[in-house]
Amino acid sequence: MAHVKEVTSLANPIVKDIRGLTSKKEREASGAFLAEGLGFVAEALARGWAVRTLAYDRAVAGDPQLKRAIDTTLAQGGQVLEATEKVLAAITRRDNPQAVIGVFEQRWTPLSDLRPKHDETLVALDRVRDPGNLGTIIRTADAAGASGVILIDDCTDPFALEAVRATMGSLLAMPLTRCSAAEFLAWQGGSGAQVMATHLAGAVDYRAVDYAGKPVVLLMGNEQSGLPDALAEAADHTVRIPQQGNAESLNLAIATAVMLFEARRHLLAL
Ligand code: SAM
Repeated sequence: MAHVKEVTSLANPIVKDIRGLTSKKEREASGAFLAEGLGFVAEALARGWAVRTLAYDRAVAGDPQLKRAIDTTLAQGGQVLEATEKVLAAITRRDNPQAVIGVFEQRWTPLSDLRPKHDETLVALDRVRDPGNLGTIIRTADAAGASGVILIDDCTDPFALEAVRATMGSLLAMPLTRCSAAEFLAWQGGSGAQVMATHLAGAVDYRAVDYAGKPVVLLMGNEQSGLPDALAEAADHTVRIPQQGNAESLNLAIATAVMLFEARRHLLAL
């Protein structure tokens, strides 16, 4: 096919560049990320994410959905590579790679653009460390109808392959914002939202709070150390999910899910 390059060697510089996207430093420098699977790639293209490269296993070259994705990529000025399974396995570091991968430009929503309205819920994560947790939270926020996820201070990268995988496509739908704790504190005052900090020492039962009326920000702490005092003390409420048994705490993604579905209970219907 015209404009499609054949790539069979791992030494090919394009392959090296794409493989580099498994490193956070390279993702930061290029502002790009790697996505796997024809479903994900087709959805990203349909949602208008800017594509830089599409690579596919030549064994699936005849697929009609792939052909449409190739046309869209070429029309956008992206490059298209027909590769071997070996090349795709090396890029994604998987023994059984997906037959299609895409390199897309990252999207970040500036904090100043976040003006949550009545009935909107945001999730704010303080120094989340685990990419699986972050991806799961993005997926859950999407499922609960939240409007965005704010990453405070030094968080794991939502565009890391492991996080992208864990979002199961919700990365494409959920606006992401990053900021420092100081920026978050400055923003929250003027945001019109009520901030619900979750804390193991919270005095208020999370089911006793009124989540209706104002937009809500659910503020979640780091997996190891929980929320720092400066963030917890500035919140409108500090709530706890009551527990029984021996577990010290809930997993961060689980606690976020419990909070999201409670905060949006009045808005969710079958
Ligand atoms: N050792 C940490 C601590 O002392 O806070 C545990 C952190 S926990 C694994 C990660 C985050 O999940 C917490 O900061 C909080 O936001 C949330 N979380 C977990 N269990 C919770 C609970 N029972 N009530 C409220 N928040 C909880």
